[in-house]
Amino acid sequence: MTAKKSAGAPDGIAFVMCGGSGATQARRREVVVSGKRVKTVDVHAHCAVPDAMALMGRPLETQALLMAGTTLADRLRAMDDQGIDVEALSINPYWYTADRDVAKKLIQVQNEKLAEICAAQPDRFVAFATVALQHPDLAVEQAEEGVKKYGLRGVSLGGSVDGLELSDPKFHPFWAKVEQLGVLVFIHPQGTAELESTSRLQGNGVLTNTIGNPLETTIALSHLIFEGTLDRFPGLKICAAHGGGYLPSYAARSDAVCTTFPHRLTGALKKKPTEYLRQLYFDSIVFTAEALRHLAAETGPGQIVMGTDYPFPWTSTSVDHILDTPGLSDADKVAMLGGTAMTLLGITPRAGAGGSRA
Ligand SMILES: [Zn+2]
Repeated sequence: MTAKKSAGAPDGIAFVMCGGSGATQARRREVVVSGKRVKTVDVHAHCAVPDAMALMGRPLETQALLMAGTTLADRLRAMDDQGIDVEALSINPYWYTADRDVAKKLIQVQNEKLAEICAAQPDRFVAFATVALQHPDLAVEQAEEGVKKYGLRGVSLGGSVDGLELSDPKFHPFWAKVEQLGVLVFIHPQGTAELESTSRLQGNGVLTNTIGNPLETTIALSHLIFEGTLDRFPGLKICAAHGGGYLPSYAARSDAVCTTFPHRLTGALKKKPTEYLRQLYFDSIVFTAEALRHLAAETGPGQIVMGTDYPFPWTSTSVDHILDTPGLSDADKVAMLGGTAMTLLGITPRAGAGGSRA
């Protein structure tokens, strides 16, 4: 492997030629900040396990979610091109309506496969365990097994569970378990089912996704704050997809309601609502430098971790988005590109040395 600065490359970027020979040589982008190689981590990358999906007769949304053959090669090439060293894989929940027996089997198949995928390429992939949160006691076992037996680095959830909010007291045992395990919980929305059952998100604009997804995240986080879940479990490490949806962009309204309508609040919080944003984590999928600057201002730059949404092509420039946002220090950029995620996910910082726990 030889490193060389590519002609015409922006500052802070180097490329490494690796693997193969001649025309088949691939170029792997290596991200450099302040003259130092930075290991980069994508916390928001999707995959699928068809054997688990078959248990619910669920079709595959796109072949690009598969972690084998040419689609895996395509994924690695995209990671190399974009300068992504490690992906933290997650699977969006489709099993929240499954009965206990199906849910138990499905999650076992899925988490085993995730562990297998990560073991095959520990320098490129870590994964979030999946859990059947509709059966909270089962989810507690699955989280523990996912982390301790399968070596998965956190747990992924949807933004609600078959009509119940994540703040529902039914889920307190799950929150207690992940707090005790000390692992990251990645919350990814799946639209806003209650609105999709009306006509309000129909028409042009893919609104079920475009605004339905961030809205779902906004609702989920707001309940976790206002229902006191974050007070009850102060050690939780939660990362919200898509920059936390709309919550950070209009966070001050959540403080303002406490002084505007104090008599209408049904419970007291230990902190101002916006202060909870500084203990949550958010991915960087907010598209513009101004949006990332604002997110960092509301949450603190140390709460932001890089995301791509691969294989869904919302962005292919997550690394540059962070490198090119004015006002971020080099330390902020290093933290967002991978430093913070490495700590949260137990990834060793040595570049090229993989995802195993140090
Ligand atoms: Zn996504």
